[in-house]
Amino acid sequence: LPLVEKSLIARIRHQRGTGGGVIKGIGDDSAVLRIPPGHEALVTTDFSLEEIHFRREWHSPESVGHRCLTRGLSDIAAMGGEPIAAFLSLALPKALPQSWVNRFVKGLTALAKKFDVTLAGGDTAQSPDGILVDIIVLGSVPRGKAILRSGARPGDKIFVTGSLGASAFVLQQLMERKISPTDSSTQNLRLGLTRKIIDQHFFPRPRIEVGQFLRRKSLASSMIDLSDGLSTDLAHICEESGVGAQVRVDIIPKDSQVAMSPALHGGEDYELLFTARKPVPKRIAGVAVTEIGEVIRGRGVFRIDKKNRRVMRPEGWEHLRK
Ligand SMILES: [Mg+2]
Repeated sequence: LPLVEKSLIARIRHQRGTGGGVIKGIGDDSAVLRIPPGHEALVTTDFSLEEIHFRREWHSPESVGHRCLTRGLSDIAAMGGEPIAAFLSLALPKALPQSWVNRFVKGLTALAKKFDVTLAGGDTAQSPDGILVDIIVLGSVPRGKAILRSGARPGDKIFVTGSLGASAFVLQQLMERKISPTDSSTQNLRLGLTRKIIDQHFFPRPRIEVGQFLRRKSLASSMIDLSDGLSTDLAHICEESGVGAQVRVDIIPKDSQVAMSPALHGGEDYELLFTARKPVPKRIAGVAVTEIGEVIRGRGVFRIDKKNRRVMRPEGWEHLRK
């Protein structure tokens, strides 16, 4: 085995305590996993590619590791599921220092431990150019209880967790070179952005507990995680449910420092967007939940600013592409 792979496996194996669902993790030809009785499996896969999803000059290895697992965990959260195990495939350039890999794994496993997710397998290869990470997360949900994108009905209210736009706003600031090319707190704070805003970009929290609460209480009629931005992800719910939506722009939760455009269109916030027809608590698992609009008959997503109502087009999240 190449040195990087040996060391990676050794590091991953040193993780203490495997989660309940993993019978055999790394060290055999295949992982052996157990889905709890009466549950169904959830599987999601996500790429994190250098220059598309992160830049080495901006994102610490710990942040890259954390963010790539967040992408997968957030998809499990959006179904109301419980994560069980993650599988990691890495293609690394030959010249990449071992310390980068070590710190990447550290960032990833720190988040995995918080949610009791076992890294149960993976693969490494040499990349001709740039770091390529693919993560698969396996989870479970009680049979028939996964919260889908297709359940929204006219009259349902639309809700989001947390606050929107911070992640894309930080990225915008990085691109405009307003923030020093590192995510160390002290340098970023020079710009006057709060720790909370900075962390929402570099260390976003997947909303696992909120998703599970909504599923247990049967509160959400449909749900998606905000990976591509409100305008795009709401359009996905509308498409899958065969409905339209209108959003009140003035009540979208965002930090005052964050501009409106990233709150409407910016991706990678990893908050949850859901619809409900029953009353929803204003806080769930310590996270604010805000009503932002309602599901309507017909097609199209509309934004209401003051008295004006106009179409809100999904402005695709282009990540680092200009
Ligand atoms: Mg998703």
